[in-house]
Amino acid sequence: MLILSVSTRSIALRTLRALCLALGLAQSAAVLAAGGQGPVVSAARVEEAGQGAKLHFEVSGPAQAVAYVMAGPDRVIVDLPEVNFQLPPRTGQPESAAKGKTRKPAPARIVASFRFGLFAPGKSRIVIDLGRPALVQKVATVAKPDGSIELQIDLRETDAAGFATAAKAVASEALARELMADAPAQPATGSADAQRPMVVIDPGHGGIDTGALGKRSVIEKDVVFEFSRELKSILEKSGRYRVTMTRSSDVFVPLANRVKLARDSGADLFISIHADTISDTSGVSGATVYTVADRASDTQAAKLAEKENRADAAAGIEGADDSSDVSDILFDLTRRETRTYSHAFARMLVNHWGEAGRLNKNPHRSAGFRVLRAPDVPSVLLELGYLSNEKDSAALLKSEWRTQAATAMLRAVDGFFQPRLGGPREAGRPN
Ligand SMILES: [Zn+2]
Repeated sequence: MLILSVSTRSIALRTLRALCLALGLAQSAAVLAAGGQGPVVSAARVEEAGQGAKLHFEVSGPAQAVAYVMAGPDRVIVDLPEVNFQLPPRTGQPESAAKGKTRKPAPARIVASFRFGLFAPGKSRIVIDLGRPALVQKVATVAKPDGSIELQIDLRETDAAGFATAAKAVASEALARELMADAPAQPATGSADAQRPMVVIDPGHGGIDTGALGKRSVIEKDVVFEFSRELKSILEKSGRYRVTMTRSSDVFVPLANRVKLARDSGADLFISIHADTISDTSGVSGATVYTVADRASDTQAAKLAEKENRADAAAGIEGADDSSDVSDILFDLTRRETRTYSHAFARMLVNHWGEAGRLNKNPHRSAGFRVLRAPDVPSVLLELGYLSNEKDSAALLKSEWRTQAATAMLRAVDGFFQPRLGGPREAGRPN
């Protein structure tokens, strides 16, 4: 089995990190912040007639908004200072999505659907999916005669060429801003503390990106966050691990930033937590552990990766293509070694999960998940269960279940790090 000695490995990793920086693989730092600040948005509606559409958001105070268009998929982005969206979770979703069918923008309407949420600290966002090309005519905060305040967004239909020109202008500006942004350094950790393995937990989705909507009004971003917090607490209580989360509140974090945070914090293990839905509900249930692979293990895994990889687009940012081929022997060796470790942890997780929860019929699969692409951090994506399944949804909502499942995960993590921490070896770890 391919394995580098500890010292060779750490030199290899350092060189690899420098290489990645030089290649510009580093992205701006992950976004972590508290939510729920600012004026409250308490109602939303869309008016559409002829070639125009108008969105109304009732706000408790003025909110200066900026709106612009983006192509592929065609959408309008509205950026505003942090506001507190107190709207039912399905607000803005098309009817078909509410029934659990595939989301298809109604072609006859300008506004096919819209989403909203916290995008970054101090910054909220509304994303309007367009059914027909349209440009922003006006964005204004209007005081109404009855004393209420409304944020109004006026859209007017345009042709495909007009939309493309406007979107291109926005994209070049955004790219310039992105290049100017620099990543703040991670705080240094004490040397005694640094002996303990670092586990990075990645609660999927967040903020404007809700993830899957399941039965019992369960929202993926919320259940995976609750579970991640429980897992963090259980791992920390063991005293054996340092633990960081990629988000500590209901905030959007781009996929590349999740990977970057894992690498910058010197993660020894990265666990991304999700909970999927499936439209053909023929009793599909249980947890599945995914590892990264260039070729998906099956069509369902491929579809899921495609869906999860769309998270950035859902929040209105362009997903950077991080699949670029780096042809370097050192890079290749490290990545191969990392994948061996990822597989080992996935097997352990599957073994231990059965102690507390139900497993999918085919519990270890692989596909091209962007969030698992750190070349030097063993990474897995755990789908806790299917929100489209009644039993899975019910389990996820119970705190006892979360504690049991997170405890089973602690055992898997213990098994994975046993060779490093001392004590008897567990089968499955590469050596
Ligand atoms: Zn997800």
